[in-house]
Amino acid sequence: MLCVGPHTSIAKGFKAAFDAADKIGAMTFQFFTRNPRGGKARALDEKDIAALKLGLGAKHFGPLLAHAPYTMNMASKTEKTREFARDLFADDLNRMEALPCSLYNFHPGSHTGQGADKGIAEILEILNEVMSPDQTTTVLLETMSGKGTEIGRSFEELAAIIAGAAVPEHLGVCLDTCHVYSAGYDIVNDLDGVLAEFDRLVGLERLKAIHLNDSKTPFGSHKDRHEKLGEGSIGWDAFKRIVTHPALKPLPFFLETPQAKYGDYQTEIQKVRAF
Ligand code: FE
Ligand code: FE
Ligand code: ZN
Repeated sequence: MLCVGPHTSIAKGFKAAFDAADKIGAMTFQFFTRNPRGGKARALDEKDIAALKLGLGAKHFGPLLAHAPYTMNMASKTEKTREFARDLFADDLNRMEALPCSLYNFHPGSHTGQGADKGIAEILEILNEVMSPDQTTTVLLETMSGKGTEIGRSFEELAAIIAGAAVPEHLGVCLDTCHVYSAGYDIVNDLDGVLAEFDRLVGLERLKAIHLNDSKTPFGSHKDRHEKLGEGSIGWDAFKRIVTHPALKPLPFFLETPQAKYGDYQTEIQKVRAF
């Protein structure tokens, strides 16, 4: 069965997040490691984590996905911002070792005017300082729409980060359907072509997760406005091809679509499963 689940709040703990996801028929979920705008992470509660582990095993959940806060910008031209990003990343990776979750997704960052090459070098400085061959977490670079000075707008930029990594064995990619479509990769009319290009530049074996979102804005807009599946510029036909594609269907899919309430994700889950 397709492994799909929504972004879920861990404000009431991990077990509560698992229960919420399970209740609507999800088989995984994504969570923010801390407040998405940064700030201190809550202390981990061993009992809560033990209960989560039991639940995941009993319900045969697929891999969970941790998402870094948006304020973590490793590519910034401001040293203080990069230091904050490094400390946050190190703390998050540390905490990941205690969680039954081995996938950690982050936005590569925005170069804030210093240029993509310099931004990529700054990202690599932090990745190479913090990541270690012993870590059990796979760090995922998210594909971005290319708004502002965002890095990760092209497969070439992601490939450049991976090529410079000291521990590439623990790096992968999370493909966001809204972002790549906005970035100018035509997953609606040429999904196979896009995946072939990804394979040539990055390698399909690096692809570890999919963010399944429709887009409020047109193809190539370089905007980042998620829409409910089937209600945006990508559309149901494309999502059917995406979730049934042989190269993609074994992966975990995460919904980051704007729903009025959490329970509304159930409809999307049922629809993508029905394909
Ligand atoms: Fe994201
Ligand atoms: Fe995303
Ligand atoms: Zn987005």
